[in-house]
Amino acid sequence: MLENKDQNKTSLAQLGEFGLIDHITKNFNFHQKSTLKGIGDDAAVLDFKSKKAVLTTDLLVEGVHFDLSYMPLKHLGYKAVVVNLSDVCAMNAVPTQITVSIAVSNRFPLEAIEELYEGIRLACEFYKVDLVGGDTTSSTTGLMLSVTAVGEVTKEDVVYRSGAQENDLLIVSGDIGAAYMGLQILEREKQVFLVNPQNQPDLDDYTYIIERQLKPEARTDIKELLSNLDIKPTSMIDVSDGISSEIMHLCKASDVGCNLFEDKLPLDPQFINVCEEFNLDSTTIAINGGEDYELLFTIKMEDFDKIKGNPHFSIIGHMTPKSEGIHLITRENTKIPMKAQGWNALEEE
Ligand code: ADP
Ligand code: MG
Repeated sequence: MLENKDQNKTSLAQLGEFGLIDHITKNFNFHQKSTLKGIGDDAAVLDFKSKKAVLTTDLLVEGVHFDLSYMPLKHLGYKAVVVNLSDVCAMNAVPTQITVSIAVSNRFPLEAIEELYEGIRLACEFYKVDLVGGDTTSSTTGLMLSVTAVGEVTKEDVVYRSGAQENDLLIVSGDIGAAYMGLQILEREKQVFLVNPQNQPDLDDYTYIIERQLKPEARTDIKELLSNLDIKPTSMIDVSDGISSEIMHLCKASDVGCNLFEDKLPLDPQFINVCEEFNLDSTTIAINGGEDYELLFTIKMEDFDKIKGNPHFSIIGHMTPKSEGIHLITRENTKIPMKAQGWNALEEE
């Protein structure tokens, strides 16, 4: 076992597994009526009455999904919860509980795990979800973090990827691409820092895009926004890999094609400026970037009047017969076949 070199830090071995679990979970409150039993037994007990439960999980591995040199542990904890809640929202469900499993090496002192769980706790408080369990184990090298989220939804409200029809409108919430450019800035500053550790980065011009990368939010507000407009999406997905890849998923599951309009893409001015600074085409980044955690969905054409001009949503395209394929219609009105360049978890770099 590795020696803990920093005497001001508490080694995990001192606490033991059960001491650690008690310590990191003691500050969590419950918010949900559906939580009958949380941490402390062999399993949690949940009661959704007449509603359906949705369940989703994600595994994050150090060096593959996150880099602790610019991702503070608190942000990592927060983001790990958010990405799962986003998947629950993409089913048009309300997130209610999470479990968190971690594998940690002795490289991490207790204080690091406390920071990670502070981020998880903040997300639980903000989104009113309950931490109801998890698992704790050791790892030989890096940190691994797995979050599972549970949500509730009525049978009538649930939305799948497969419900889009020809002529449906394609909508995205918020704006896209910023999280990817935030990562480019963080990577650049890391290289600058490695060359000259005295160099203090000036990140004032990049606050929005960095926040989109380090502290994304799940669109738990969309379900209510749409229900207040009296709109039920016909299909929905969250934007984790970039909208080109997400559009492919919707089209494949729904057996339709799609026309996406370049001039309709919602881009933040800071995102556009940074693309120019990096000499990158903002459209290419916006559709392939990913990690925006916005919701991409289709609605019936007849709902157009209910959503047009709404500041939360942009109408960016429409679905076509499958035989017409999937295209980007550029500002010059040329039709470019779209390929999913979204991040592929199993692809070699
Ligand atoms: P078991 O041996 O039955 O798997 P554990 O001793 O691993 O139980 O866990 C005891 C309790 O603490 C369980 O309720 C479990 O869900 C919870 N728990 C364990 N690790 C974590 C963790 N990292 N975060 C949150 N809850 C945890
Ligand atoms: Mg266990």
